[in-house]
Amino acid sequence: MSTYGDRGNVICLQKRCQWRGIQTSIVELDRQAEAGAFQKIDLLVGGGAQDRQQEIVMRDLQGAKAEAMRQILEDGIPGVFTCGSPQLLGHYYEPAVGQRIEGLGILDLVSKHPGLEARRCIGNVVFEITASPLAEELQGILGKKPVVLGFENHGGRTYLGNVSPLGKVIKGYGNNGEDGMEGAFYCNAIATYSHGPLLPKNPFLADWLIQTALVQKYQQAIALKDLDNDLALQARAAMFKRLDVSV
Ligand code: GLN
Repeated sequence: MSTYGDRGNVICLQKRCQWRGIQTSIVELDRQAEAGAFQKIDLLVGGGAQDRQQEIVMRDLQGAKAEAMRQILEDGIPGVFTCGSPQLLGHYYEPAVGQRIEGLGILDLVSKHPGLEARRCIGNVVFEITASPLAEELQGILGKKPVVLGFENHGGRTYLGNVSPLGKVIKGYGNNGEDGMEGAFYCNAIATYSHGPLLPKNPFLADWLIQTALVQKYQQAIALKDLDNDLALQARAAMFKRLDVSV
């Protein structure tokens, strides 16, 4: 599941580790992978997909893999999940056409596509992270409110149950274009509708994921070496100006 360039999140994490001398190995959790492979994961990344692919992936993830994924996420392993992935981590996704796709039930949310006539939620998206303790931790690192910049493209609308939203929408549709909420945050799992890819546009999120993965793995405080984010910060400033968003 990487229809909308979400593989860029994996490359971003890999590079930001490499630039700090942190070794990484990428494990593809595809249909050949066993449930046991999840136990070896330090940081989980899931991307977006079209309805048809989501159905195929869901048939594979049900059962032992779902339980393995729930276990590692509830143990605090960090994850970043974009668009089609959070829809599948929820209870179900009702696509525009065809049967309801039963989800993994890890996140207390549901997603519904209002039908092919309905407008898709497409465009640049900006939201402020409000989920606790993530928002406080990021504000501690950044010295200001953590604002995410990305691009959304989804037909499905997501409705949260008893799970924290990741943030509040400043510009764009977010989960459903109605309640002003974006994404979800559960244990150390970040779920969002924001493609982009997300992490190169918001390097502070990539660093939070890397730091959290290392703290979980070595059970000790970890300080990451600062990197030169100048180019990313210039690109963000240019986009916020274009979108007339002051942060
Ligand atoms: N197929 C889903 C939808 O349209 C997810 C799309 C995506 O992953 N960008 O809502």
